Amino acid sequence: MEIDIIYQKFKTCSTISTDTRKLQQDCLYFALKGDNFDGNKFVDQAFAGGAKYCIVDDVDALKSDNCILVDDVLTTLQELARHHREVINIPIIALTGSNGKTTTKELIYTVLNTTYNVKATIGNLNNHIGVPLTLLRFSEDMDFGIVEMGANHQKEIAFLCGIALPDYGLITNFGKAHLEGFGSIEGVIKAKSELYDYIKLNQKTAFINEDDEKQVKQIGDYSKIITFGNSLENDCTLTFESANPNVTLLYDGSKIESQLIGDYNYGNIAVAVTIGKHFNVTTENIKKAIEGYQPDNNRSEIIKKGTTKIILDAYNANPTSMLAALKNLKQLDADKKYLFLGDMFELGADADKEHQSIVNFIEDNFKTNTVLIGKNFYKTKTKGATIKFPSFEDLKPTLKDLNLNNTTVLIKGSRGMALERILEYL
Ligand code: ATP
Ligand code: MG
Repeated sequence: MEIDIIYQKFKTCSTISTDTRKLQQDCLYFALKGDNFDGNKFVDQAFAGGAKYCIVDDVDALKSDNCILVDDVLTTLQELARHHREVINIPIIALTGSNGKTTTKELIYTVLNTTYNVKATIGNLNNHIGVPLTLLRFSEDMDFGIVEMGANHQKEIAFLCGIALPDYGLITNFGKAHLEGFGSIEGVIKAKSELYDYIKLNQKTAFINEDDEKQVKQIGDYSKIITFGNSLENDCTLTFESANPNVTLLYDGSKIESQLIGDYNYGNIAVAVTIGKHFNVTTENIKKAIEGYQPDNNRSEIIKKGTTKIILDAYNANPTSMLAALKNLKQLDADKKYLFLGDMFELGADADKEHQSIVNFIEDNFKTNTVLIGKNFYKTKTKGATIKFPSFEDLKPTLKDLNLNNTTVLIKGSRGMALERILEYL
């Protein structure tokens, strides 16, 4: 089936759906296959729930004239998204990086949204399915589309660029995340830089943080760049003021006081300000947008419970973001500090080494109590005030007796550790 014909049908539908539990009337249903399910088996439910057409790749799923049989449903979704992207022809800003993608995406969105008609990736839909779904929500009348791209293997970002065809790109940072799939930090740098490769090959524009050596090195002497950083020579000059606890910066004679904590969020804010400036958003609107943005989903949130101040950063963790959170905690003004750290997942052969190196950092830099949770941290060599539990269940009895009055508490671990569960005990 030609993509044009499917596209004509898509244009008559209300939206795209890949899940029969969440269908909209007159949607176009894509019968995707997952590890545990096969969308082809749910075509009856899709029609019953209001689907107008169903795209299937199993002949047994051909239930009516409104079923369209293709070789592969996923490939069709991706091709349709690319076709749509070419038809609407709006400027697209793509971003990737090891940490801070969603936060940065939302910051860029809030800044541009003050002045333009924009849409961005919803939540964390940043993979080979999420990116096509994001693009298919975009329309001709928009001024900008913002697309988050995630990867845990080589060639993924190149592939996603081939669908989204971005006009602008940025990399939040290069860090030790998903080492299992990338092999090493060099592997991470190579994989994320596929966005720069795309930009260079197609003469598109990159936003470059001149204060980040890795970005500067990877972009090389490519000239279509918009730079930002501390120096006056940049296209956008910004000055970091403090992160104690909220990130504050100076831009165009204004002080911007964000609601984000952690000095690592400075770069995320800086690129959003730069993009705003580049597209002529007024300083007043940039300031209003950044100051109004509040993180959610357990991402670097501050929660106060009585006299206990909790830095809840339980959304995810990898060696780079863990170290960033620890360095941030170290520079915070607080009499008493307490740490709950959970395992970092997806580190492959580096898991032991990376967990030990976090423990060493804590023991060299904090005189506080640290609680380590998870199988990997349990294996590390510890001394002093560090206590370890192989699982959350094992930690529970201790939590009941803790007194953390007048203490600043950091909670951070990989998503699978779900350390936000600690909150109800504090
Ligand atoms: P995912 O891979 O799940 O899509 P992401 O890259 O979208 O993650 P965010 O969800 O924005 O990242 O942030 C997750 C966590 O990463 C934050 O809570 C914070 O701890 C950390 N983080 C954010 N920005 C940075 C940064 N620039 N450097 C290091 N750590 C960061
Ligand atoms: Mg994300």
